[in-house]
Amino acid sequence: MTPTAATAVTDQDLVVLAEQLGRPPRGVVGIAARCVCGRPLVVRTAPRLDDGTPFPTTYYLTCPPAVAAVSTLEASGLMKELTARLAEDEELAAAYRRAHEAYLADREELGHVEEIAGISAGGMPTRVKCLHVLAGHALAAGPGVNPIGDEVLALVRDEWRPDRCTC
Ligand SMILES: [Zn+2]
Repeated sequence: MTPTAATAVTDQDLVVLAEQLGRPPRGVVGIAARCVCGRPLVVRTAPRLDDGTPFPTTYYLTCPPAVAAVSTLEASGLMKELTARLAEDEELAAAYRRAHEAYLADREELGHVEEIAGISAGGMPTRVKCLHVLAGHALAAGPGVNPIGDEVLALVRDEWRPDRCTC
């Protein structure tokens, strides 16, 4: 079973999100992926927050065990290795660029924000800077959209996976 498709945010979701994040969630417009238990895994966030701040990270990973598993991977220095691979592997680079375009298209559906036009997140399209962002995108979009995000999810699979609740 894969995480469910994007759904509306409920009052209960907002309570869980505040708990997961340790602060009130900002700019939430939907739940982009849920755990099998129903709790949010990834939130869909407005491209401009209520206070006017442009917010490029449309898909934000919120589930604490998932965040922790990806943080462990980041600590291993994988971003540098993946960025180097993007420079060498044309096929991977092309797929990653398509992921960047898909990310921008999704965000554009939520509204156009000039300050961040053409800028996605996580280092896309040519670098790998934040594995949380890429894993969040992979969970929201499903397999086959973000190759690096898919790889991150595969690498943390022993520690955390979306089809097994560890909330
Ligand atoms: Zn769960």
